Amino acid sequence: MRRYTALLLLLSLLFLCGCGQKKAAETVFAMDTVMELTVWGSDAGNHVKAAVERIRELEAALSVTRADSELARLNAGETVALSADTESLLERSLALREETGGAFDPMIYPLVKLWGFTTGEYRVPAETEIAEMLAKVRTGTVELEDGMAAAHGAELDFGAVAKGYAGAVLAREMKAAGVESALLQLGGNVQTVGLKPDSSRWRVGIRDPWGGEDSYLGVLEVGETAVVTSGGYQRYFEEAGTRYCHILDPATGYPASSGLASVTIVAEDGFLADGLSTALYVMGLDAAAEFWRSRDDFEAVLVTDNGRIYVTGGLRDCFACEEFQVIER
Ligand code: ADP
Ligand code: MG
Repeated sequence: MRRYTALLLLLSLLFLCGCGQKKAAETVFAMDTVMELTVWGSDAGNHVKAAVERIRELEAALSVTRADSELARLNAGETVALSADTESLLERSLALREETGGAFDPMIYPLVKLWGFTTGEYRVPAETEIAEMLAKVRTGTVELEDGMAAAHGAELDFGAVAKGYAGAVLAREMKAAGVESALLQLGGNVQTVGLKPDSSRWRVGIRDPWGGEDSYLGVLEVGETAVVTSGGYQRYFEEAGTRYCHILDPATGYPASSGLASVTIVAEDGFLADGLSTALYVMGLDAAAEFWRSRDDFEAVLVTDNGRIYVTGGLRDCFACEEFQVIER
């Protein structure tokens, strides 16, 4: 009997170890970026496969450059019956535009195109062109009712929130399917599911805006969350010694130059983390700190152009870096 129990114990141990090590990973290019999806646990391969399919589905609905996407049809002036994803993104984006005082603006697309950030054919537009497109951004409207949407003089771009939204959707669906541990890297966005397979917290590096792809300013230790960074260094062009980045200030029509080099947002919700990383980058340090004080649904790491690092109060104990200042409530 004792031998039988020992054998059972050994077998279950072997089984447990085997499970713990089971892992599936895939790298995909989608939404104009490289994504790395890693899932641990039983059936990991199928969960990764389902995630890739889901990303493709979201991409097909949200791409501004594919003529047949829901978004492209909306931008072309059609009245479109939106999928649940696009409806949710549109609704939440319009709300976030209000909440951020317009620093995040999903109707910025005419300006994004004008500067060449959609095609990569960058150029500095004439002031008159910027004024014309700014007027369009300001006066355009979007109508949304019962899942039907129509844009009037407006063109939308979900580039600042699509990856964060995708991360949130994948995390929610993986959890519903029983996944206990996953790391979803969608370009500069990180979404975790559960804890690491060894039950410790995840370590997420904050990129050094002046360093290469593998150089980090600091490390965040987090549980299940979204960690999203927006930075001028991620996409930009230079002309006559001036750097023009892909995050535009809807107040001016020019690339944001608020004195920040990068903004990282830590939030339970990926959509919010992504939208706010863009919005706070536009706002600049002081307005971003004020905005944080007015809410309780996110934390942030802000890096200024002169290399100073500021961390909101909630992150003080989970951020490791040589030197940083804490923004208090
Ligand atoms: P990334 O996509 O590189 O991770 P962001 O999340 O900050 O960076 O999104 C930047 C993209 O969002 C731009 O490429 C553009 O398509 C769009 N965009 C630029 N400025 C704004 C803005 N102020 N509000 C909303 N979207 C913006
Ligand atoms: Mg963003």
